[in-house]
Amino acid sequence: MSARRPTDAHPRTPFAPNRADRERRLAIATCEDCGGEFDLAAADPRARVCAPCFDRSLHAVEVAFLENYARFGAKAHRTVAEALFRSQALADPDDRKVIGMRIVEEYLNAAQELMALYLAMRRRHEQPLLTTFMNFELAAPSVAAFRALTLGRNSSELLRDLQLPTLADVEAARGEIPKKDFRAFAAATAAVAHGIERVQRVDQGVLLELADGLRSSATLTHKLDWLPERAMNPDQVALVVLEQRRRVVLTHALAIHEPQLEVFIDAIDKITAAARDLIWLYLHVRDTMALEGQA
Ligand SMILES: [Zn+2]
Repeated sequence: MSARRPTDAHPRTPFAPNRADRERRLAIATCEDCGGEFDLAAADPRARVCAPCFDRSLHAVEVAFLENYARFGAKAHRTVAEALFRSQALADPDDRKVIGMRIVEEYLNAAQELMALYLAMRRRHEQPLLTTFMNFELAAPSVAAFRALTLGRNSSELLRDLQLPTLADVEAARGEIPKKDFRAFAAATAAVAHGIERVQRVDQGVLLELADGLRSSATLTHKLDWLPERAMNPDQVALVVLEQRRRVVLTHALAIHEPQLEVFIDAIDKITAAARDLIWLYLHVRDTMALEGQA
């Protein structure tokens, strides 16, 4: 049917841009902030600002974002975990397992955010802090990077790595700063190291497996006898994950009992405190640099 009929000597078809035209039109947009043209090829077609303008806007909200996160976002994990822990005492054994798993999830969220914050601060001269922080994903390479940077390091080494002042630096200037500020600084540096140590302490393999599992499923089970050749202890709860491409049903079992959960609650407390204090130290340094006209 594709043959042209004889009467159709000059077929009139509405103008349609060819592929090259279409791509050219789509690929260039005008930035609403600076008026410059930018390439849409690497962005969502709905993007309205160019990459440098977007980075500038992220820099502009950085302090406010961090202050808010330190006061609210980081603490949220502790608030939820503690509320769950309190309700667990009154729950029946099965419900206790479900609640226990949710507490572990809060641990994962808190740990993930502290890793993200650390790496974001470390890269703050290369790209906006918010970019690294918000795009962070708990995955083998990112966990390995965090581990390599922080494992076995004391608070001075960690702060040095982040280009923040160490306790020794502050001690050297002790005569010039109020006693109260020095004590707050000493407490913050210790809290950062403690929190990072708590992230390190949990087996990274287990952490990744669990995080991976939770991303694809939230289905829990308290028994595994419905799966062939699978069993678990009465105090365990398992996450059930169907891996379609591998054609297997995976289960990640976790012991949920009070002493174990207390360890998680304590870890969440230390990790969220570390995030808060890391931000406090960083903002303090930014303030000081701004006062000295270096920022
Ligand atoms: Zn722009």
